[in-house]
Amino acid sequence: MNLFYNLGMVEIICLKSKFMHGVMEQNTYVLLKGKFALIIDAGADLEDVKKVVGNKKVLGVFMTHLHFDHFWYLDEYLEEFDTSVYVVEGYENKFEDSELNGSVLVRQKIERNISKKRIKYYAKNLKLENFDIEVINTPGHTEDCVCLLIENKLFTGDTIFADCIGRIDLKDSSKEQMIESLENLKTIDFSIALPGHYESATKEQIIKTIGFYL
Ligand SMILES: [Zn+2]
Repeated sequence: MNLFYNLGMVEIICLKSKFMHGVMEQNTYVLLKGKFALIIDAGADLEDVKKVVGNKKVLGVFMTHLHFDHFWYLDEYLEEFDTSVYVVEGYENKFEDSELNGSVLVRQKIERNISKKRIKYYAKNLKLENFDIEVINTPGHTEDCVCLLIENKLFTGDTIFADCIGRIDLKDSSKEQMIESLENLKTIDFSIALPGHYESATKEQIIKTIGFYL
């Protein structure tokens, strides 16, 4: 089921992925504001994303981290919308490394050849047309995890969900870093958390969930 959030100036549409028969249902978000659109992660079918984007200009695809379920259709998006992908510098090799991108865990070899000219690196703050994006590094689930704060909404990827945190038993996970990242998230001001899987959460729910782990 796709969810629609109408939160002030920006419209946020959550599209659920369908690959692998929806087993790993992933949330891809499309943000619409004025003539522009942003996409967060790339797990939803291109056709579903196209319907939502319409004739708006896509300013970029913003990765919360480079696990295969989050970049499944990235190459198709970049081609269709003629846009760039934003990643944490130094981790782009994960697109082509099925061990690091987690796909070996589901007995698949998901590797994507993303053109270097399409790749841009995150800065702490990005201003793209009418969008202000604050990039918060939250390593733990993986080294390259970020949360994105846009218009007071926090896109948390696989760092934290409504009722639990992301796995920290993977190849480049770190429990220590996760604890630091969770401490940091407690200090961030936001109205709603929109994670990479499952449902959205209020800040109160997120604080409660963090409390289980600290
Ligand atoms: Zn992940």
